[in-house]
Amino acid sequence: MNTKTKSIKSLFKPYLTVKNAYKGGKSVLPKNKDQKVFKLSSNENPIGSSPLAIEAIKNSIENLHLYPDATDIRLREALEIYYNYQLTKDQFICAASGSEIIDLVIRAFVKEGDEVIVSTPCFVPYKMFSRWSGATVVDIPLFEDNYGLNMEGILNAITKKTRIIFLTSPNNPTGSYISKVELEFLLNKLPQDIVVVFDEVYWHFANAQDYTTALPYISKYPNLIAINSFSKTYGLASLRVGYSYMNEEVAAYLRQICKPFLITKLSLEGSIASLKDTDFIEKTIDTIRSEKIYLQEQFNKLEIRFYPTQANFYLINPPIPSSEFVQFLAEEGIAVRPVDNFGATGKVRISIGTREANEALIKSIRKLKVISLN
Ligand SMILES: *Cc1c(COP(=O)(O)O)cnc(C)c1O
Repeated sequence: MNTKTKSIKSLFKPYLTVKNAYKGGKSVLPKNKDQKVFKLSSNENPIGSSPLAIEAIKNSIENLHLYPDATDIRLREALEIYYNYQLTKDQFICAASGSEIIDLVIRAFVKEGDEVIVSTPCFVPYKMFSRWSGATVVDIPLFEDNYGLNMEGILNAITKKTRIIFLTSPNNPTGSYISKVELEFLLNKLPQDIVVVFDEVYWHFANAQDYTTALPYISKYPNLIAINSFSKTYGLASLRVGYSYMNEEVAAYLRQICKPFLITKLSLEGSIASLKDTDFIEKTIDTIRSEKIYLQEQFNKLEIRFYPTQANFYLINPPIPSSEFVQFLAEEGIAVRPVDNFGATGKVRISIGTREANEALIKSIRKLKVISLN
């Protein structure tokens, strides 16, 4: 055997390319010690983390040499209470982030050559993780004018190979949402052997009359899986915890490939405590709602074109090319997110911050407008 002509590279899977590695929201470093920086690039909670979570983490900081619980059962029991027993603990799957659950669902249902449907602009991991499983990503873009869902397009795109459809409401990065009527229409039309992933991680911020989570539909549609996260509303992005709920049999199927000891001790204690922190959640929602109105008024005054949002961020059309806009704000100490890779070319996503951060943002945009006029 000529061992020299063999190469380890022949084992590389053709669809596992590293060239489209995920780029997260960039941090901006202060130019000098007096410059304050504001991170409005990753939709994090502007008022911090749940104090109850912080306390629980502090109390569990001892014994880091011991393994955490082998399973997520205590978190699932806490979720059962949080959902007022409308769901049982056996309907939840938890993991080290919402993104991990998205990956878990893809690995559980998708094999090489299968198809998944996404609607860009959308959260990048749907496409990225699907490709890692060797799936073909079929894109049925949202309508350009209002970022509504192209339901006919989705139904027409279904083939024998379709395994998963990703729906996001409120959607990242557009802030648009899927109405009750739309979701019901789709669930009724879609074949039961296609998984509908309903990503609702921003649901706390939605206040449209006809907004819905997946909760009312779970018992009727066993192919429906709802994705949630502790990263946004609970202010626990760095702990990496997420959860999902679904039909009990589907959960039992997914549970077979849940890794033991996956969620760290600190993450378990923090997320469990945060579920009880109704004060913090209310304060977070109130802050986002009032700051959303503040930003809307200011954007209108400055003639910045923005899209209506049901989430804790705005998608805007920057007044100058997006890369220059992002760069200008970075120099001002404000990080915002270009979202070309989400499929929103030339647009910028700005997380809703504290009043201080939002005022700094508006002041900087005003300055930019003055500069560009001269
Ligand atoms: C932030 C986000 C998630 C999950 O985030 P994790 O930090 O991985 O839990 C999932 N979906 C969307 C649309 C998001 O914006």
